Amino acid sequence: MKDCEYQQISPGAAPPPASPGARRPGPAAPPGPGPGPPPPASAPRWSGSGSGSGSGSIGRRPRRKWEVFPGRNRFYCGGRLMLAGHGGVFALTLLLILTTTILFFVFDCPFLARQLTLAIPIIAAILFFFVMSCLLQTSFTDPGILPRATVCEAAALEKQIDNTGSSTYRPPPRTREVMINGQMVKLKYCFTCKMFRPPRTSHCSVCDNCVERFDHHCPWVGNCVGRRNYRFFYAFILSLSFLTAFIFACVVTHLTLRSQGSNFLSTLKETPASVLELVICFFSIWSILGLSGFHTYLVASNLTTNEDIKGSWSSKRGGEASVNPYSHKSVITNCCAVLCGPLPPSLIDRRGFVQSDAVLPSPIRSDEPACGAKPDASMVGGHP
Ligand SMILES: [Zn+2]
Ligand SMILES: [Zn+2]
Repeated sequence: MKDCEYQQISPGAAPPPASPGARRPGPAAPPGPGPGPPPPASAPRWSGSGSGSGSGSIGRRPRRKWEVFPGRNRFYCGGRLMLAGHGGVFALTLLLILTTTILFFVFDCPFLARQLTLAIPIIAAILFFFVMSCLLQTSFTDPGILPRATVCEAAALEKQIDNTGSSTYRPPPRTREVMINGQMVKLKYCFTCKMFRPPRTSHCSVCDNCVERFDHHCPWVGNCVGRRNYRFFYAFILSLSFLTAFIFACVVTHLTLRSQGSNFLSTLKETPASVLELVICFFSIWSILGLSGFHTYLVASNLTTNEDIKGSWSSKRGGEASVNPYSHKSVITNCCAVLCGPLPPSLIDRRGFVQSDAVLPSPIRSDEPACGAKPDASMVGGHP
């Protein structure tokens, strides 16, 4: 299998000082599967001066990192579960799936089990539990958020950037180039997270986080889809396609059998629940099937939605031929790499305790070169 890690071209400066429990694959530390950040098992420090976006200074009790998390995520169960800021569409997804399936079990399954086979409710139940477990895993899993740089890390990086461009009046460059499988890839600086984004990382404008192998932000699952939850997302849409098609076919069969020897319209009036299921399935199945097909193509090519929409590896881009450096040139190997590769540990350590100097970020100290506070276009653009 091809090695997709990248190498820094000019790893000039010393690595920024590491902050305990907040390991970050910044420009000098490429991301990759490996042991997770050690949980800060040491005695928690007291943090009196809250500088995060948490609930402010509440006495002097140890606070966990999810309480001062700088992004727009919401945390539940003491930080064990996380969702993006707006959960309304996610609630609608749950409502549609639960309503359709419950109506199916109550109004169609008894008839179909009696007239045809008991296998119908059993298959539907298996599909339903698989869909729900994939959905909840996609929604409540850290998608691969990169922790923002601490003040010290950001200052060290600023110094390094400044040194590279100090001989001219032009502002120092905010991009770096790395070579990945013979392909030059540009790394952009994230003004919010104060670091150079590793390859395939993008800043989600909804959640306000940099996410590794960013695919897109999906309001239907209430989360970003990235390196750590893409396989669950793919399994979710694929299994949802099967469930929707299965329920649709079964309800049509139910109505057809019921209407034998009588008027079809009067059968529809007798079974309003089945009609509602038909309507929901009919209008959702096209988009779900289309999405499944599109993501199957992405998985087979080892692409992300973000890269596909931007045309990152289209051959005409920039006037020179470019190929996807992450592709293994084989559909099966790409599928295995995307869906079965090792799952990297979460880097945000949301249950860890806040160290007094590790809470992020900015402002950069006044004696350090200030970075222009303008976010770059790709950050604000709202990646689909
Ligand atoms: Zn960022
Ligand atoms: Zn997001």
